[in-house]
Amino acid sequence: MNEASPTVGQLLAAAGIDPFEARLLLAHALGLTRVQLITRSHEQPAAGQVQAVRDLFARRRAGEPVAYLLGHREFHGLLLRVTPDVLIPRPETELLVDLASERIGNQAWRVLDLGTGSGAIAIALAHLHPAAQVFAVDLSAPALAIARENAVANGVKVEFAEGSWYGPLAGMQFDIIVSNPPYICAGDPHLAQGDLRFEPVQALTDQADGLDALRMIVSGAPAHLAPGGYLLMEHGYDQAGAVRALLAHAGFGNVESWRDLAGIERVSGGRLNTRP
Ligand code: GLN
Repeated sequence: MNEASPTVGQLLAAAGIDPFEARLLLAHALGLTRVQLITRSHEQPAAGQVQAVRDLFARRRAGEPVAYLLGHREFHGLLLRVTPDVLIPRPETELLVDLASERIGNQAWRVLDLGTGSGAIAIALAHLHPAAQVFAVDLSAPALAIARENAVANGVKVEFAEGSWYGPLAGMQFDIIVSNPPYICAGDPHLAQGDLRFEPVQALTDQADGLDALRMIVSGAPAHLAPGGYLLMEHGYDQAGAVRALLAHAGFGNVESWRDLAGIERVSGGRLNTRP
């Protein structure tokens, strides 16, 4: 005998995951708003929809990130498509966007985002600064496909290039370079926890001490920055001192770190000293 077809409310009650996440996934699978989940909680979705909802709940119980299950994540007020080919944009990365944005203002700057992933930083900056010319690089072709889609969906122009860090940028100079590179060190237990288990490993760790990518970005920056240009990078909770030292060593002045909303030094940067 078939079990009685469950109502919207019964599906929600049986989700077995965080209730907020359950409502997001249920609304997504049923094509309802979260208000409709309440007003229509006694309705019985079709069998196919019930199965789709149960599958999503099961995948979430197995740890898959909500952003991948929904296929999107909001970042700096923009909706971005995300798949397992790209890192899920984090709220703390909005600090990097804000710091870059303060410096760009209404100037027609050339802006570079290294390791763009979903395109989050580049697209947010292009959206905030229509006069700027935004470039973005990533090693991953599948990530760039998502980033390109996100730029179009958000109505901004970003020039994307495939390659390793400055590889595709021979002879090009920028007024500001930003990056949220892989900075988790190999063997960090966080890599085996939560959402990170499902994210592209090359977006998370350099498979070394966590500073490899940051070193490459800093050491290559002087050749690709206009005099007085800025470099701003996101990094790990315990890396600010090391990143400031890298910047100072590479000839940057005004070297500073900024704290995220959790009070952690999360972004460091500096300004390339103009030659006398
Ligand atoms: N901030 C991410 C985390 O710790 C890592 C992202 C990165 O390595 N750039 O989950």
